[in-house]
Order: sequence, then structure tokens, then C-alpha cells
Amino acid sequence: MRQTKSICPECKRVIAASIFEENGKVIIEKNCHEHGGFRDIYWSDAELYRKFQGYSYTGSGISNSQISSSPNCPFDCGICSGHETGTLLANIDITNRCNLQCPVCFASARIKGFICEPSFEEIRKMMETLRNEKPTPCSAIQFSGGEPTVRDDLPEIIELAEELGFAHIQVASNGVRLANSTEYCKKLRDATLRTIYLSFDGITPEPYIENGGFNSLPLKKKAIENCRNFGPESIVLVPTVAKGVNDSQVGGIIRFAAENLDIVKGVNFQPIAFTGRIDQSQREEKRITIPDVLRLVEEQTDGEISRNAWYPVSFVVPISRFLSAMRNVSLPELTVHPHCGAGTYVFYEEGHFIPITSFLDVEGFIELLEEATPEIKGKVSKVITLTKVLRQVPKLIDEKKGPKSVNVSRMILDVLKKGDMDNTSRFHRNSLFLGTMHFQDLYNIDLERVKKCGVHYATPDGRIIPFCTYNIFHRDSIESKFSVPYPLRNEPEKEV
Ligand code: SF4
Ligand code: SF4
Repeated sequence: MRQTKSICPECKRVIAASIFEENGKVIIEKNCHEHGGFRDIYWSDAELYRKFQGYSYTGSGISNSQISSSPNCPFDCGICSGHETGTLLANIDITNRCNLQCPVCFASARIKGFICEPSFEEIRKMMETLRNEKPTPCSAIQFSGGEPTVRDDLPEIIELAEELGFAHIQVASNGVRLANSTEYCKKLRDATLRTIYLSFDGITPEPYIENGGFNSLPLKKKAIENCRNFGPESIVLVPTVAKGVNDSQVGGIIRFAAENLDIVKGVNFQPIAFTGRIDQSQREEKRITIPDVLRLVEEQTDGEISRNAWYPVSFVVPISRFLSAMRNVSLPELTVHPHCGAGTYVFYEEGHFIPITSFLDVEGFIELLEEATPEIKGKVSKVITLTKVLRQVPKLIDEKKGPKSVNVSRMILDVLKKGDMDNTSRFHRNSLFLGTMHFQDLYNIDLERVKKCGVHYATPDGRIIPFCTYNIFHRDSIESKFSVPYPLRNEPEKEV
């Protein structure tokens, strides 16, 4: 199918890799002259691979990059001029401390023996770097860890993010502090936090016992309840999907989310990435790729959310380009690699799921916008083209198959006409976003995907580093450079 570059999992040298079809699956194979051959499943469904491949876009990256294009990718980032996507979502790890002791976690301060916790001023500088990105300042930020809520100054950090102009601010959390304190929930809400990215591995105790050593499901439910009553106003559930642990629960998780749609706005499935050495037979047995998640969703929702309802993250690029041309502004473009992630929207009525694709011809819609964009780009008057588009849109919608409780045509037309946050939020309020992103590991890493990454870390040394490369290659050295021995100020990690 194509040639790419990857990494030898043993010596970490850049090596050539082939991506090809075999028995309906897509395989990545590479050979290191010193450590031999490595093979892994890249995507478990070749047909879906081809569909997604059709939505590959080249972005223009960051014009004020930090270094010139690196021949030594991925070892040289801070972000270089060869990187093709700007920062769509920035991560800042504000601590590596945690208030849980999950046996599967090797990242916490206690296990690593040091604490890595940027100061408030360092965090300010990291955020300023993100806001200074050109041509499109980064507008979405996630505070992560460790467990970010163990830092008492998190509300002030959120306020600062708001002040600096981030439009979307979220906190990745295990939910412990939210479950234990309604006052804390209010504090986060008052600091203008709107979204919690809540780790949520299933709807029964078993996945929690397997991953965390105890049943934290009641705690997750309590955190959701507290957010419902006291804020923040929206939650995205984040299950890490592992074979034999929770792969039988993806449908149940979606149903749980839909039944809590007043507060749960999305589910983002993350197939597990391998962090240590793992041999080929075990990889073949345990590997879950994006098409596996889509198949599981289809099977476990009785076919209501079929694999055809999903499109790559990059599918929406023509929408941003159309809206940018309409409003003469530079909007973020989700030009991430089409095999990094997938998403869809579903509505939920009378116990049934209605994916957006069942009543909107999404491909026709994208084609319509792709054709219209050159007609309005740089033009003073856009009325004729906009009118033409608005006339066409209703023809792409089959109202009879759509949800009864909301006027979807009206919502889509409003987003196109006004394109503002209020209308986009109205669409989001009524639907459930389903997403999946497969983070890479040393076995399946594809440097073409890396170069298009739009999820970036801001690090205390002032760099912007793409997420997968940060976790695989850069995290350890940066954390050790900016750490102090554990415990800090005699402050132990908090126990539950
Ligand atoms: S991962 Fe991106 S930023 Fe880093 S060296 Fe490669 S192209 Fe440049
Ligand atoms: S974080 Fe990894 S999986 Fe996600 S867009 Fe970046 S390279 Fe792709």
C-alpha cells in the first residue's frame, strides 16, 4: 500500500517500513539490520483503511516553528517547520503526582521516584508559547498528569488559560477529587472549566479492579453526579480499550453515555498502546486497532452504529476551510493523519441510536463545501455561493430518518450561516460525540502519522512536541531534567 519510516523497537533507529494488505488486514513490517524483523497489525480492516485514506489532507503546520525541518525526525522536536499540523489540542502535564495507585501505571511520581511539576510561571510561559503559534493560535488545551486535580492551584491555572484566550479548556481526571468534593466541582466551574476528560473503563467493576486494583466505578458515577449538580458542565468518558479487560463493554459504555447525555457529551475510546517489550505472538493476540473498536461498537449496538458511520478526524477539514473562507479568518484545520483517529455523532431516542450518517449524506455535504470554498476564498461578497450551498444542504438530509426531538437541518444551516460557537455548541448539546484515537507505540509507529500529529505537548523547556513522539522518545529526558526527588516539600502522594 505504501512505504513509510518507522523505528526499531530495540535500538530506536529510524528504519524503513512497508504497509501492505494481507488477508483483509493491513500489516506494518520493518527490518532492522541489527535486530531483525518486526511485524504488527497496522489496521485490522483493509477496506476501512482505504475509505479513510481518501481523506488525507496536508496542513501547513506552524509558520513560526521552533526549529527548521529536521532530518532527524522524531528526535529533534520542538516543533519543526516540516511538521504538517498546528496544535489542535495542547497538553500540559501539570504534575506527575496522583491520588490513586493503579498497579498498571508506571508514570506516577511514587514509582518513578521523582516529582515533575512545572511552576505556575512555567505553565504561563508554556501557554503563551501556544497562544503565539502562527497563523492560528492554539485554542484548545488539556491539563493532564499524573492527576491534575492534586494541584491546589488548578483553578488558578484554568483562569489563566481563559485569560490568555483558550476557547476550549479541559482537565483529564480520574474523578477522585470530583467525587469527594462538591465544593471542588464548584471551584472548577467558577474558574470557567467546562469539560472533564474522565477516565472510564467500563460499566462493571471488573475493568477497574483489573487496571486499578479496586472497584472505582461508584466513584466515577459519583463524580458524574457531582458535575451534573455543581459543574463543570460537560464530561467526555475516556475508556482505554484492552482485549479481555473491557472490549466487551464498548456498547454498554456508549449506552451509559447516551443515558447521561445531559452531562456526558462524548466517549473517546483509546485502544491500548504497548509501552514495554512485547513479543510478536502476544502483540497479535492483544493488539486492538481502530477498525476493531468500530466493529465492537457495531456488534454491541445491534448494528445501530455501524462501522460505516465513522470517518477519520481529518474528514472535517473542508468544513473548517469553508468557514475560514466565509469569515476571512484562519480556523484550526484537523489535518491529522487519517489513520490516527475516527469519529462520528449519534443521536439517541427511545433507546435507539441514530448516527448522523443515517440521515445526512455526509460525503455529499463535504463535496459541496469543497466545491464552494474556492468560489468564496478572498472574495468580498460571498452571498451567491452561500445561498447556493444553503439551498443544497436540505437535499442532503432525510428528515424522516433523523431524530424527532431536534431540527437537524436548521442546526446545520445555522452552523454554516453563522458558524459561531453558540450554534456549534447547540449541535453538540443534542448529540453524542464518539471518537477513537490509537496512540502509537514502538511497534506500529509510522513517521507519516507523526508528522501530521495535531495533539501536542508544551514542555517546561519551551518546546512543542507531538504527543506520540513525546510519550515514546522525549518524556523521560524532559521529566528527569525538570524534576525534584520524591516527596516534594514532605508532601506525599495523596491516598484515596
Ligand atoms: S515529529 Fe514533527 S516536529 Fe518532531 S521532528 Fe518530526 S516533523 Fe518535526
Ligand atoms: S497523538 Fe498520536 S495518534 Fe493522535 S494524532 Fe498524534 S500521532 Fe496521531
